[in-house]
Amino acid sequence: MKAGAVFPAKRRVECVELPEPKISSATGVKLRILEVGVCGTDREICQFHHGTVPDGFDFLVLGHEVLAEVVETGPAVERFRPGDLAVPMVRLPCAHAECAACRGGRADFCYTGDFFERGIKQAHGFMTDFVVDEEAWLNPLPREMREVAILVEPLTIAEKTLAQIRAIQQRLPFERSSRRAVVLGAGPIGLLGAMALVNAGFQTYVYSRELPPNPRADVTNAIGAAYISSQVQSVEQLAETVGNIDVVYEAIGASQTAFDLLELLGSNGLFCFTGVPRHGQPVSVKADRLLYNLVLKNQAVLGAVNAGRDALEASVRDLGVFNHRWPHAVRALITGRYALGEFREPILKPSGIKNIIVLGGKA
Ligand SMILES: [Zn+2]
Ligand SMILES: [Zn+2]
Repeated sequence: MKAGAVFPAKRRVECVELPEPKISSATGVKLRILEVGVCGTDREICQFHHGTVPDGFDFLVLGHEVLAEVVETGPAVERFRPGDLAVPMVRLPCAHAECAACRGGRADFCYTGDFFERGIKQAHGFMTDFVVDEEAWLNPLPREMREVAILVEPLTIAEKTLAQIRAIQQRLPFERSSRRAVVLGAGPIGLLGAMALVNAGFQTYVYSRELPPNPRADVTNAIGAAYISSQVQSVEQLAETVGNIDVVYEAIGASQTAFDLLELLGSNGLFCFTGVPRHGQPVSVKADRLLYNLVLKNQAVLGAVNAGRDALEASVRDLGVFNHRWPHAVRALITGRYALGEFREPILKPSGIKNIIVLGGKA
């Protein structure tokens, strides 16, 4: 069977031939891969800025955003049967006994950095026809979510962030009639984050470069959020439009814009970083003003990466809700479908919102 892979040392991105895997443990589950989503992380890996091959290999099989169907189960598997849909965990725990996070089932908070990530760091991904995984790393999905389930993984980061927003905002012992959120960036992470924030009751604004009308603005409007182009409003004008900015959900990985907006965060506001900037030129930051605001306005800044099982379960539940609430907007996020043989194109020349690889020769 073919797999989409990257050879970092040879600086090549191409299909490799792999033998079809067999179940080798009582808790093993054989999966037929139905779809693999591609994102900026795959692009970073294919441009050789990121990604590590597994021990003993000179290549890494790509693919961390996955929808799979169970085809066979080991004798001790309890939660899955052939025909069930499943989404695998991306990050697997490090081996260190002293890592309380990994030992506690929360590899997303790993202390050592020696975790594994499927399709990213020292573990092959899922961009191929069949994969055998352990039951413990699989999450079940309802059949009726088949069409949109590939969005479960990219939604997990918003779910992890929202759980932390809820936890931190418990410090405010009063109810506010209206809470306002700004989403920076209108890629899939940003738009899914906007859906999660609207669904959580935030008056939500998506701030992105492209002028409307465009498909990202259409999705934004369809979910009851407001789309504001940075070519129309500066961050200062945006802050004036919004009023007290309670939450910023950053999903662009562009440091200057993020820090410009951090300066305008509201009282008791929370700024959540999820984008990863490429190490580039230094940006200018008004540090005194930022620190002054942080203290005098009771602000908090947090970063979030990957997600635990609780976020994945919240993602399955909420995507089901979004799918009922905004069926067209959710489907409109998936803009490109490619065959495995064409996997380089959506990764290296991305267009549209979310591109997916459809396995089994169907695109
Ligand atoms: Zn991704
Ligand atoms: Zn760890």
